[in-house]
This record gives sequence, C-alpha cells and structure tokens, in this order.
Amino acid sequence: MIAPPATLGMLGGGQLGRFFVIAAHEMGYKVAVLDPDPHSPAGRIADHHLIAAWDDADALDRMAGLCAAVTTEFENVPADTLAYLSKFVPVRPGAEAVAICQNRSAEKGFLKQHGFPHAPCADIRSESDIRNANAGLFPGILKVARFGYDGKGQSRVRDREEALTAFGQMKGEPCVLEQMLPLDYELSVVLARDEHGMVKCFPTAENSHSNGILDVSIVPARASGCLRGNAEEIAEGIAQKMGYVGTLAVEFFVVRGQLHVNEMAPRPHNSGHYTIDACVTDQFEQQVRALCGLPLGDARAHSAAVMVNLLGDIWYRDDPHHAREPDWAGLLAVPNLKLHLYGKHHPRHGRKMGHFTVIGADADEVQKSALAARRRIGICDE
Ligand code: ATP
Ligand code: MG
Repeated sequence: MIAPPATLGMLGGGQLGRFFVIAAHEMGYKVAVLDPDPHSPAGRIADHHLIAAWDDADALDRMAGLCAAVTTEFENVPADTLAYLSKFVPVRPGAEAVAICQNRSAEKGFLKQHGFPHAPCADIRSESDIRNANAGLFPGILKVARFGYDGKGQSRVRDREEALTAFGQMKGEPCVLEQMLPLDYELSVVLARDEHGMVKCFPTAENSHSNGILDVSIVPARASGCLRGNAEEIAEGIAQKMGYVGTLAVEFFVVRGQLHVNEMAPRPHNSGHYTIDACVTDQFEQQVRALCGLPLGDARAHSAAVMVNLLGDIWYRDDPHHAREPDWAGLLAVPNLKLHLYGKHHPRHGRKMGHFTVIGADADEVQKSALAARRRIGICDE
C-alpha cells in the first residue's frame, strides 16, 4: 500500500489529470504531472510539473525517482513509456492494457478474441483491404487506428469508392472500417478494478453526442435494468481479461436492443464526470485508490444526475470573432447545479472547457432542469 504523503505520477495534464490531482490532494498525496504543455490544466495545480515529451528519457527518470506509482489520463502515452517506468515503479493500468485501448485494431482484435460483442469491422492497411472488404461493411465509418478522439480521424463512407478516397486522405495510416450501425442510443460503464480483482461499477450512463463530441450524460440511463446489468457485466469481463488495475471506461452502442462495445478508455472518462457530484466515491478517487493499493470506495449514486459538457463555442455566442465569458452567475443560480471549469486559457471551438452536473432525487426533474440550463448558457441543438 502506498500511503500519503507519497508522490503519485500522472502522465498527461488535461482535465482528467486535473481531477486526479484534486482527488489525490484531498487524500493527502502529492502529484507529479508529465505533460509537454506548460499551461496544462493538471500541471498548473500539481506539486511538480515536468514539461517534456512522453519519451523524454531524463523526464521519465525524474518521474521514476519522484513517484511511488504512476498512472495515466491519456491513452496515447506511448506504451513504451509505461513499460519503461514499470521497471522502477508500479504503473497502473499496465502498458499491455493501454496498448490495446490506444489502437482500434488491437482493441477490436481483443474484443473478437474474447467474444465481446462489437460492430462488424475489418482492419484496413492497404487499398486492397478495402477492395476485399465484406460488402456488408458499407455504409461504414473509416477510423484511423491510432490517435483519434472526439470523432476526429473518422470518415463516414457510403461505399468502396468513398472508402478508397477517405483512406487516401488519411495518408495510408492503418485504419479500421466499421459497419455503420443504426444506433438506438449510447451507454457507457465506468468501473474501477483493484489489484486483487475486486471491481466496483458506477451506474451506467446514457450518452448523447453532438458533432462526434460527448454532449450530455444521463444517469440513471433510460435503459432496462437488464440491459444496464449486461453492460456492467461486459465491462467487468473486459477489465478482468485485461488484468486491468485502475479506472476503466467502456462505451457501448445499443442497436435494436442489443449491446455492442464501441471502445474502451484506459482512464477516467468524460461520461463519468457525473460521479464527482452524484456518487459516494468518484471515478478519480477510485483511480487514486486503485493506484495506491487501497480498498475501492462505494460507487453507488446517491442522486440522479445529468452532466452537460461546456465547449469553447459558448464563448462565441454573440460574436464569432471575440470570446466573451458566459453567464456563470446565471448558471449557478440553478438549484443543485455544480459547475466545473478546467482552467484552460483559450476557448477554442469544440474544445472541452468545463462541464456542469445537475443532481437531484427525481430523474425527470433533473433532466428538465439540466436541459433548461444548457439552453440558457447558449448550447443549441443542431
Ligand atoms: P470519443 O473520443 O468521443 O470517444 P472517438 O473519436 O473515439 O470519440 P468513436 O467513439 O469511435 O470516436 O465515435 C464517436 C461517435 O460516432 C460515437 O459515439 C457514435 O455516436 C458515432 N459512431 C462511431 N462509430 C459508429 C458506428 N459504427 N455506427 C454508428 N455510429 C457510430
Ligand atoms: Mg468514443
């Protein structure tokens, strides 16, 4: 067990890392953040901020020297970086699990190997892979195997011709071609697993996206108890098969009432932000607990919750060229609303700047109130 005031290492300085720093500080730990960005949201509040590239040997040696254990908030940290650090300190989740989650092709291979349900798909490494792809995969989505996020690196393709054009635009990067599924809706399960294999699942969230970016998460999800239970079972099975230690997120599609795993994230997840305000223990505290070999906390929700993402776009509500601070006072006047801003300097379009969560005893009221607040702050439905 790693006891406070030990220093914990965090690879990545985004908002997920920032919430980890806050949770670790609450529990008496110090945190060292490694991130190349000098203004990273987590780095700015950490005890140590190492401003260096993910594969900077000196920085990694400093992390190994400073930290009692290391975790990540970012799946694109090179697996070699995790493997190197693990020679000196515990690294959770381990390099193998992160390597699966950071590559769509490896991820699909893992799901297939262990019989977890997922969309029909094919690995695309060359034009001939597209020519030989099963006709049933069209219309589909061509996704780059690595470094995609928030719907970036994806192209919707109606047929083989469009897929060939899209593949050309991706400059020959390895891709996965996925059948386009008629989604009923989307769910996610965030869980924590400790080193003894004990798992605590947070309640399943129902997620809606706008332009490929998560917009709203609703808890409890408006799915049957049976479907929610199945999603938790699958997520737990995935964590077990990966020997996962830490906080893991599994995204699902629901198609004609059936679950399909979309993807996994080897870290806390945007759709788990509601846990900060609505659960006994939140996803970041679980990450600290799992990392330090402490018992996991109670993952139960004490309230219904709706989480709404705040993108940079709302700063440009009145004028597309000049950013103006949104009306926070108006938002904070909503009862049972908790606002979280990430301390990012520049509100770019599509950039996640913060979120708010409305909690309450009555799920319908919470939804009405959150959606009214969302409109009020200037988020429009397409
Ligand atoms: P994020 O970083 O938000 O998780 P991402 O870039 O990893 O996004 P995906 O999760 O693969 O991308 O896809 C983003 C969204 O696009 C999904 O949440 C879903 O709404 C839609 N989508 C992706 N794949 C499919 C599919 N096969 N059929 C239908 N819709 C899909
Ligand atoms: Mg996704």
